[in-house]
Amino acid sequence: MTDTNVRVRFAPSPTGGLHLGGVRTVLYNYLFAKQHGGKFILRIEDTDQSRFVPGAEEYIQDCLQWCGLEPDESPQHGGPYAPYRQSERKDLYRQFALQLIDQGNAYYAFDTPEELDAMRLEFKTEDNPSPTYNYQTRLKMRNAETLPADEVSRLISIGTPYVIRIKIPQNETLTFIDMIRGEVSFNSFLVDDKVLLKADGMPTYHLAVVVDDYAMKITHAFRGEEWLPSAPVHILLWKYLGWIADMPMWAHLPLILKPDGHGKLSKRDGDRMGFPVFAMNWYDPRSNDLTTGFRELGFLPEAFINLLAVLGWNDGSEQEIFSIDELIQKFSMDKVHKGGAKFNYEKAKWFNHEWIKRLPSPYLAERVKADFTAKGITVANDEVLVKVLDMIKDRCTLLTDFYEQGGFFFKAPATLDVAAIKPKWTNDKFMFFDILSEKLMLIEEWNVTAIEALFKETATEKNIKLGELQLPFRVMLVGGKFGPGVFDIAATIGKAETINRIKFALTLL
Ligand code: GLU
Repeated sequence: MTDTNVRVRFAPSPTGGLHLGGVRTVLYNYLFAKQHGGKFILRIEDTDQSRFVPGAEEYIQDCLQWCGLEPDESPQHGGPYAPYRQSERKDLYRQFALQLIDQGNAYYAFDTPEELDAMRLEFKTEDNPSPTYNYQTRLKMRNAETLPADEVSRLISIGTPYVIRIKIPQNETLTFIDMIRGEVSFNSFLVDDKVLLKADGMPTYHLAVVVDDYAMKITHAFRGEEWLPSAPVHILLWKYLGWIADMPMWAHLPLILKPDGHGKLSKRDGDRMGFPVFAMNWYDPRSNDLTTGFRELGFLPEAFINLLAVLGWNDGSEQEIFSIDELIQKFSMDKVHKGGAKFNYEKAKWFNHEWIKRLPSPYLAERVKADFTAKGITVANDEVLVKVLDMIKDRCTLLTDFYEQGGFFFKAPATLDVAAIKPKWTNDKFMFFDILSEKLMLIEEWNVTAIEALFKETATEKNIKLGELQLPFRVMLVGGKFGPGVFDIAATIGKAETINRIKFALTLL
């Protein structure tokens, strides 16, 4: 399947946080490029200055880095077709808009926002609630289709603001082959005369995406299904600009749907239902809102990638867990589903749990440490951390669970669930722990076997059932009724700490 000519691109507009649907688009691009030995390009589509959000581009790059889906060419790292930021390519686009005017495929339009509003009001009917600028309405507007040529020249020469619009033919069937949907056809009368060049001289997305896909020799263009209605405009542009033979193969990826299957998953659904929708924390400088991401909630990039890969694709088998290398090998566009995929947060967590179990503890330790540090735990000995992770990883779904499940190994619990011990507490038990703490002091080789043997021996001496003592012991060391084997815990936290925790607990009982 090697084809080193393969060039794919992810072309986000830097307008906010990166939605998981966006990351899935990145992933499918990346997998396709890697399996062909081709190139994956990141292009920032920032021509719409009114939607530009500071920090969004850096955020996108950081997300790609966290996911391990690094582009071969990008604004950050450059490449043979630089620049990769459309605002820096501004001067390139105008000539193509002018070429289209010369050919009769585009025209100047001088309508003011008020005139456009008036047109929408005038042509609004029950059947057509939002009339567009098209083959019919253009004839009622102020543009080069209705004004004499000398008037058009005069308006331009006196600096009247104008846009350049594509002239969509009245009745033409536009067909293309989508890699997921097969043959797709549109009739052009449904398409409006999109603006190609705005009054500020900037191209719109439609012109820029076509010019850049051509200039950057893109061979396959994967993007969300929401762009399907724009496809006819793009096809016409490829055709009118004389590049149709080089048009990329299109694939419009199915939507990621709300958990109940009704409509596209949005950031608001996540906020409402309490799950993340963005890859990483996104701080919106306009609203000051902070939206929590998968990363900060404790997802591993391996799991995040895996769960996104199978949201809309599978290899035809029952397999659900895929590493990135396996995905590169097995991914294929013809197995991407046509229908939308429902997002299920419980399933997403299941993937994370599976990856926590699979990944080696030294690797997890690197990722857990930062969370521990942020929560006030300094890990002095990495080996101990690795041992602890080995003991508790089966109980952890999110990386942040490691703190809940394992923080007590490094720091005495802040509170003890005394209520769990109190009802069955007796003086004999008090004596048992008092003696135990003295005897533990004498153990020379501090290990599970020695601690357990001493514990049992003391229980027999005091004639108390082992089962009655293990729960209090656990609460003393851990703070609550959870955690791995209690003797393992004692062995790991060390002699002095075990004794201190017993003694402290006895002062509360
Ligand atoms: N700039 C578009 C976006 O924001 C890209 C669509 C495409 O890939 O053609 O999603």
